[in-house]
Amino acid sequence: MGDSNHPGSKSFNLLMENGKIQKKLKDLKRKIENRYSFKRVVMVLMIAVIATLLLGTYKINEIKTRSYTVYYGDEEVGTVRKKEEALKVIEDIKTILSNTYDSEIVLGKDIRFENTHAKDESLVSAKELKSNIQSNMTFLVSGYELLVDDKEVGFCKSKEELEDILQTIKKPYLNTTNENSDIIDVSFVEDVKIKQKDIPLNKINDKEELLQYIQTGTEEEKIHVVEVGESLWTIAEIYDMSVEELVKANPDKNPEKLQIGDEVKLMVPKSLITVATIEEVEYTDEVDYEVKIEYDDDMYKTQSDVKVKGSEGETKYFSRITKHNGVKVEEDILKEEVIKEPVDELVVKGTKELPKTAATGVFLMPTRGSLSSRYGMRNGRMHYGLDIATRTGTPIKAADGGKVVYAGWKGSYGYMVEINHENGYTTRYAHCSSMDVKVGQRVYKGQVIARVGNTGRSTGPHLHFEVLKNGRNRNPASYVY
Ligand SMILES: [Zn+2]
Repeated sequence: MGDSNHPGSKSFNLLMENGKIQKKLKDLKRKIENRYSFKRVVMVLMIAVIATLLLGTYKINEIKTRSYTVYYGDEEVGTVRKKEEALKVIEDIKTILSNTYDSEIVLGKDIRFENTHAKDESLVSAKELKSNIQSNMTFLVSGYELLVDDKEVGFCKSKEELEDILQTIKKPYLNTTNENSDIIDVSFVEDVKIKQKDIPLNKINDKEELLQYIQTGTEEEKIHVVEVGESLWTIAEIYDMSVEELVKANPDKNPEKLQIGDEVKLMVPKSLITVATIEEVEYTDEVDYEVKIEYDDDMYKTQSDVKVKGSEGETKYFSRITKHNGVKVEEDILKEEVIKEPVDELVVKGTKELPKTAATGVFLMPTRGSLSSRYGMRNGRMHYGLDIATRTGTPIKAADGGKVVYAGWKGSYGYMVEINHENGYTTRYAHCSSMDVKVGQRVYKGQVIARVGNTGRSTGPHLHFEVLKNGRNRNPASYVY
């Protein structure tokens, strides 16, 4: 282009060449435009390629460092590249624990992941991760709890163990030895439930120990307030405890110095589970008869006669009996069937005053002296009486009231008096020296009827006294003293 210090001449030239330039400019513009649109495409392409390359590199890098921070509960236990690595470690731990404790293991806390990026060198090894988890670990074993009225009573690893315990508790009540009884229901009085629960291992109970605990139960504390006249001994008796147990339960009390109103502690063992059985029983029971009394003016006061013998009735019962731990708590009679009605007994009693000569039923000793021979075998022969040796002439008294049925000589008896007491008894008085009564005469108890002698087969003055009941000899020593 021209010199800028001479604009006038240049302007002229330009004007002159205007048309040419315009044309050239147009061509140039077209050329430039063409070149520019090509360049733009190339540039856009290049940017796209670079961007793609950059993004690719970034992506590759991002994928390469992607990892997970592992949390066990709230505790960070390490960073892993893949979740599976941590999950496998957890599984391994569970397997080891399950094998060790022979139980399904539930970990006390959850495993949780958070996305992160980390280089290889900051990752944990499986071994490290395992030890990190173990050091933070509390674990539960899967087990079952026994609930009695919603209270936890114990834990076992398996449901079967608890079911076994309950079965053992029920067993003594499942059958009856009575063939006329049917157990129609066995249940527990309490609400007994078995529930799955994850339990700390140390809380699992031994089956036998748990059974014993349920059966002997807790020691329930009760209070007894001392009343007038009570001592530890009488209180122990009331509650079927020993005095030692009471003393143990009341170390603060002096057993010798209980005061009225003192509170005595009682430890009463109580089984935690009560077995309720309902049985249907068929049984017969005796029904007592009644005794009715009639009075008769013609009979003596001491006399009575059974006019109609009473007899017990019999009733068959069908009843439903509820027992708690084998102890009857309720009986519901469903049906009664009278097999035999009872028969009332009718007794007639006398009202008439006793005559003096009536038997009293009690004998007196007819005379006093020394006992020279007893009732029983003597020299190979039976001696049927009681011999009382005393002086000849000593009075002999009637042992009881009655009627003289014999008074006279009777072989080896010598002189003998026999009195019928009209109550099944008769008495004989032998070897008499003299007699004061006649046959048919009524005598009163204690009346002198004869005198001691040595008549008949006798070796010295004595009374031979016999007692007979319904015609058979009895030992007089059983009646007189
Ligand atoms: Zn004799």
